[in-house]
Amino acid sequence: MSLILTLLPPRKGLAVLMYHHFGPVTCRQEAGFFIPDEMFERQLDYILNKGYKTLSFSEVETASAQKRPLPAKAVLITLDDGWKDNYTNAYPIIKKKNVKINIFLNTGDISRDARYLTWDEVKEMRSCGLVQFAPHGVSHKRLRSLTDAQIKDEVSKSKQKLQEQLGVEVKSFCYPYGAADKRVRQIVFDAGYSLDFGTRKGVCPWPWDGKKPIKRAHIMACDDLKDFHLNLTRGRCRL
Ligand SMILES: [Zn+2]
Repeated sequence: MSLILTLLPPRKGLAVLMYHHFGPVTCRQEAGFFIPDEMFERQLDYILNKGYKTLSFSEVETASAQKRPLPAKAVLITLDDGWKDNYTNAYPIIKKKNVKINIFLNTGDISRDARYLTWDEVKEMRSCGLVQFAPHGVSHKRLRSLTDAQIKDEVSKSKQKLQEQLGVEVKSFCYPYGAADKRVRQIVFDAGYSLDFGTRKGVCPWPWDGKKPIKRAHIMACDDLKDFHLNLTRGRCRL
């Protein structure tokens, strides 16, 4: 935890939390991304006890389109990549706590690679009303290093596939590795998205001006609850 950050005033706006994995570590190189179940429960209790309201993609998309304010303590919980543990570990916990989460999927990995979710799991989670989904591309490629046509493929095909499977429009997009620039963003918005999410740390000022992808706080396994408080209120727990 950074002491300097605790001295800074809390940032106003939408807190967006970025998670990846839950439960026991199954990939040593990415151990820091695996949030133990008890820790996730404690973090959700913290959010609820402090009076935060968890939002879904569609609520944020609508508020942004209509330039409407969000609740004073609003948090968007996002999970990247669509890993299997989102279903086996995170899903039972969020149902128990009645908290909303939002998952960015690599559509090409769903129902293909056992480490990821299946479409049946995606649909089951969506139908409970607490989980929404949006694309993270088809194959988790670094979009900035692709041609315009390849980027268009990644962003349009993933949107189409998810909409076909869920029967709802999806309007949020998350860049794999946070790799976006002006060219990539233009293609994303031309494909019909209205919100884009990156990996730069911070709280999203509201209303969002759209000039840069929406910032997120990185939730890591080494964080304690003081770090979590900083992530919620400052968008980061380290300088
Ligand atoms: Zn990713």
